[in-house]
Amino acid sequence: MIGRIHSLETMGAVDGPGLRFVAFMQGCPMRCEFCHNPDTWDPAAEVQFEWTPEELLDEVRKYKSFIKKGGVTLGGGEPLVQAPFVRKFFRLCHEKGIHTALDTSGAVATDEAFSVLDFTDLVLLDVKTADDSLHKSYTGLTRKNNQLWLDTILARGTRTWIRHVVVPERTYSEERLSGLAKLLLPYLPVIDRIEMLPYHTMGKMKYASLGIAYPLGDLPDLRQDEIDHAREFMRSLLPGVTVQ
Ligand code: SF4
Repeated sequence: MIGRIHSLETMGAVDGPGLRFVAFMQGCPMRCEFCHNPDTWDPAAEVQFEWTPEELLDEVRKYKSFIKKGGVTLGGGEPLVQAPFVRKFFRLCHEKGIHTALDTSGAVATDEAFSVLDFTDLVLLDVKTADDSLHKSYTGLTRKNNQLWLDTILARGTRTWIRHVVVPERTYSEERLSGLAKLLLPYLPVIDRIEMLPYHTMGKMKYASLGIAYPLGDLPDLRQDEIDHAREFMRSLLPGVTVQ
C-alpha cells in the first residue's frame, strides 16, 4: 500500500495540539474558491513522497522527541481520498503511542473513510459554510458529506476542532456566521474549539503557475478587525465555546 504525499511539515504548530509531524496527502475532490493549495487537487500529480505507511512511520519516528507532547496530523488536499493508507498509518501510530489527528474537509463519506476514526484521536473538520445555497458554487460539492461527518463524530464521540475560513463577500456576514453557529450547536458535546481562519491571497501565485484562473479575482484578504469581529460574534452566539 503506497501513500501519495504532497509534502511534509516536520514541526507543525497549528494543525492540532502541541508540536506535530504533518503530512499533506495528495488529491482533493473539492474546489473551494478560497483554496490556497490547488497543487494538491490532482491525485495523479507529481508528489514529493510515495511511501508505505511503515515508511512514513519510520520518518515520523526521527522526530519522536519533538512530537512527544503533540503527535501526527494527516491533512491535504483531502487525506480521505487515500483512506486505507490513512487508517493503516494511524493504526501503526497508535501501536507506538503516537497521538493522531485527521485534518479533513469531510468530503469523503464512505464506510472506509469513517473507519479511519477507529484510530483517530482528534478530527480537525472544515465546515466551509452552513448555507446549502452557497456550498456547491463555493466548494464544488454539496454540504451532504460534511453533514454526515458531523453526525458521525457526534455519534462516535470523537473529539473535534472545527475550522472555518472567513472570506469577505462570502462567509463574512452576521447572517452566515449565525447560520454556522446554529449548525454547530447540536455538535458542541464533541467540539473542543472552533478556529476561525482569515481568508488570505497567499496561494494566488500557485494558480498562476498551474494555469488556473484565480476564482476570487481581486478579493482582498480579510482584515484583522474583521476576523476579530467574526470571532467575537461567534463567541456571543456560542458562549463557553473556545473560538479562536
Ligand atoms: S478542501 Fe482544502 S484542499 Fe480541497 S479545495 Fe478545499 S481548501 Fe483546497
